[in-house]
Amino acid sequence: MPKITDFLTELQAQLSTPQGRGIKIKQDPRTIKRFNHDNSYHASRDPAAVISVKTEDNVSLVMRLANKHAVPVIPFAAGSSLEGQTLALDHGIVLDFSDMDKVVEVHVDDLDCVVEPGVGWSELREELKPTGLFFPPDPGAAACIGGMCGTNCSGTLAFRYGTMKDNVLSLRVVLADGTVIKTRNRAVKSSAGYDLTRLFIGSEGTLGLVTQATLRLRRIPTHSTVIIAQFPTLASSAATVQHLVQSGCPFLRLEIIDDLCIKAVNNEIPDPSKKFAELTTIMAECAGTSQDAVNEQLEAFKAACGTIAQNVTMATTEQETDRLWSLRKRAFFMAPSLRHAESEQGKQFSTIVTDVAVPISRLVDILVATRKMVDEARLVSPIVAHAGDGNFHCLMVVDKNDKDEIERAKKVRDDMARLALKMQGTCTGEHGVGLGKIHLLEEELGEGALEVMRRVKKALDPKGILNPGKVFLEKKGSKL
Ligand SMILES: Cc1cc2nc3c(=O)[nH]c(=O)nc-3n(C[C@H](O)[C@H](O)[C@H](O)COP(=O)(O)OP(=O)(O)OC[C@H]3O[C@@H](n4cnc5c(N)ncnc54)[C@H](O)[C@@H]3O)c2cc1C
Repeated sequence: MPKITDFLTELQAQLSTPQGRGIKIKQDPRTIKRFNHDNSYHASRDPAAVISVKTEDNVSLVMRLANKHAVPVIPFAAGSSLEGQTLALDHGIVLDFSDMDKVVEVHVDDLDCVVEPGVGWSELREELKPTGLFFPPDPGAAACIGGMCGTNCSGTLAFRYGTMKDNVLSLRVVLADGTVIKTRNRAVKSSAGYDLTRLFIGSEGTLGLVTQATLRLRRIPTHSTVIIAQFPTLASSAATVQHLVQSGCPFLRLEIIDDLCIKAVNNEIPDPSKKFAELTTIMAECAGTSQDAVNEQLEAFKAACGTIAQNVTMATTEQETDRLWSLRKRAFFMAPSLRHAESEQGKQFSTIVTDVAVPISRLVDILVATRKMVDEARLVSPIVAHAGDGNFHCLMVVDKNDKDEIERAKKVRDDMARLALKMQGTCTGEHGVGLGKIHLLEEELGEGALEVMRRVKKALDPKGILNPGKVFLEKKGSKL
């Protein structure tokens, strides 16, 4: 059993030292409730305490003592994870990074910046605007850089700029015993040794704690236009995306939103004249450094749509562009509105979100098969896709008190992932493994790769205190 009380007593005694100044220990019910869950469908778990840190020194001190007393530490950024990544399984302590929220340096000439882990991606975007630069990863939630490193997140702009792995140059990391390391310098290229930056990105807080990240920035395109087209079927929209990706056209974003999702979003648009036709829709953003570059992408898009597409519309103002992208962003929040019929009154709903990704040539096959699976399981589930990356999500709206319905949704989650694996894809394109996909990771990579991961974990965190029980089980066959 971890000695939480001894740990907290020793930490308390260090709060007035230079290394401890800034740390706050919280155990009040309101704070525990705030940090006992994420945005996933997994049951909440109360941490023993929430510890807020302000400096790298604070983090190092907490880890040194946690390691001494073998206390589990669960790093927490914005808590928008979708696979249970921030749940305190072993009644450990949650480490709250929200006070480490400074943009430390901006190197406009080098197109990079250095930030603390509690900086939000959308706040960073606002702050960088005057420089004409931006940081591309844009998950749909109000996520922060530490958590975004944790899940190797991406978003709508990954089609052009890649995921966190492609956009983080270097990290400062506190290891399980409190040691501080930097993974690299700021050059955009480096062949110097093992790629530790990428080892930590996507490790879901199980290998080390990010205390600073150097981020690669890009220039904001000077010209851009959003274009949407609606299709009679999911298959015809996916075939169009496959064709566009294979053509090599460099769109900024290439997304699919299915008819059910449009219906959900329409539910919050009061003005009937502003509602969208309830058909599967491709949304693309064409962008570049000249209007000619944009026009070329627009022409490629229209040509690929051919005569099948209906309601091909372009945003002509910034307001209209924002309106169209907010349609995409509202999908998760509006999905439950699909079950607000009178017969469903009094029920409580939650959304089980799951994501997979496949090589682009299999997008049509997997989307069609998934829609069939969802319908056969009698589930209400809009589908949204970062289609250009062969990545999509099912937003399964379930009655929280209907065990059978929840089991059917979990079966769809597993069947979808297994189908993606058969197509040489992955059980998660961007949400990560957390708790919900541990069994699927093993199927994806096999025991050999998992054993290597276990050895890496053992080398960096011998006592297994960093976010235990996430990504994989400690021993083959052991249960959580
Ligand atoms: C509405 C909605 C839309 C979303 N859309 C997308 C999307 O388009 N693309 C996408 O990729 N994801 C998406 N997500 C999922 C989620 O936003 C991402 O996984 C995001 O990266 C999580 O960031 P966070 O700040 O909330 O991190 P948290 O949930 O707090 O943590 C994420 C992981 O990182 C670890 N961690 C936190 N801080 C640190 C640190 N300092 N050092 C080391 N590890 C740390 C945590 O322990 C956890 O394992 C969406 C979620 C929601 C709710």
